[in-house]
Amino acid sequence: MILAAKWVVPVSAPPIRDGTVQIEGDRIVALGPGASATPPSEPVVDLGDAILTPGLVNPHTHLELTGYVGRLTPAPLWTWFSQLIKLRQAAGQIEREQQGVQDGAWQSLRAGVTCVGDISRRNLNWPVLKRISIRKVCYAELLTLADDPPRNPEELRAALDEIEEDRLLTAGITPHAPYTVPAAHIRAAVELATARRRPWCAHWAETHEECAFLRGDVNALPSFMRQLLAQCHLDSPHLPAGELLEQCSRGLPPGLLAHFNYAAPGDAQRLARAGHVVVYCPRSHWFFRHPPHPYRDFLRAGVTVALGTDSLASNDNLNLLEEVRFVWRGTPDPPPPETLFRMVTLDAARALGLEAQIGSLEAGKQADLAAFPCSPGVSDPVAELVNRAPPPQGVWVAGQRVVL
Ligand SMILES: [Zn+2]
Repeated sequence: MILAAKWVVPVSAPPIRDGTVQIEGDRIVALGPGASATPPSEPVVDLGDAILTPGLVNPHTHLELTGYVGRLTPAPLWTWFSQLIKLRQAAGQIEREQQGVQDGAWQSLRAGVTCVGDISRRNLNWPVLKRISIRKVCYAELLTLADDPPRNPEELRAALDEIEEDRLLTAGITPHAPYTVPAAHIRAAVELATARRRPWCAHWAETHEECAFLRGDVNALPSFMRQLLAQCHLDSPHLPAGELLEQCSRGLPPGLLAHFNYAAPGDAQRLARAGHVVVYCPRSHWFFRHPPHPYRDFLRAGVTVALGTDSLASNDNLNLLEEVRFVWRGTPDPPPPETLFRMVTLDAARALGLEAQIGSLEAGKQADLAAFPCSPGVSDPVAELVNRAPPPQGVWVAGQRVVL
């Protein structure tokens, strides 16, 4: 099959006017300007005035929280967190959240998102996602203070072993955060990911209070959180967040760090040296009323930064292009459109350890694509996408059309 469009945006190369992408099975085999890539025997699907791109990649979300959209008002994280706990405890939680995973996956596909990095608290999301033609990294989450497993490295290993991978499903590991999991268990989780050659992620330096607690100010956290931590004998490691990260991952492969909203001097260089990818969730960041994110310092230092949505308990929808437009239109001095678009495609794929398979249109890569309508006379297709964030007119995962 050959897809032809007004513009083809490979991401790893400049946009191609009147381009084609040739697909065989689940892979891209060629792309280029129209005529040269078109053997006459192949069926051609002419998408017309469309911009054909790699499928978007949302590297950080919690699809099980999709059903709580609109139930929580913008507030600092601790207020939100205690309200969310109450909402989740209402009767019918498992059914409600499983429905949320399904709804969230389809909402993602309809927004042109062909791959998600999804965190599941009880490791219940993967069987739901397995039935849906979306690519996914399903992260099993280690959370020491939780009522349900996984709460320690042994339970994390058991959860990982439960996940039935397939060509669209990769298992991943996530120790929740450095204030909710002891450093030794974070390191054990990263070692497990390394031994299994699977991606890992963690929430890191998300709040000012977390960073103060890690440095040794044990009273920085709100009292309900202090009580929870005390029940599990979780103490401050007495290290700044950046140094603690080095200690937990020294000599091991880099990971995905969700948020990193509060960087200390030297952290950007530290992240760049280690090769970690930071995921900034712009609209969720705004929801929690954090000060401006340090992602531009990270980019200048050579850190790979991707954009994610976080969950719908702190966002309006899972439309990743709207995340890009929010940064482009809503922040002073944003990065150029090409950089922002890369942050939801190739750099987001790297965050999930999938950059060899997806994130750009290249021969040999998986045929995960999205086609977006293009206004007449557009000369810069990436700026068009970033400015307008149009809904897609077609979405393909592993060579199969899944939407529209
Ligand atoms: Zn998160």
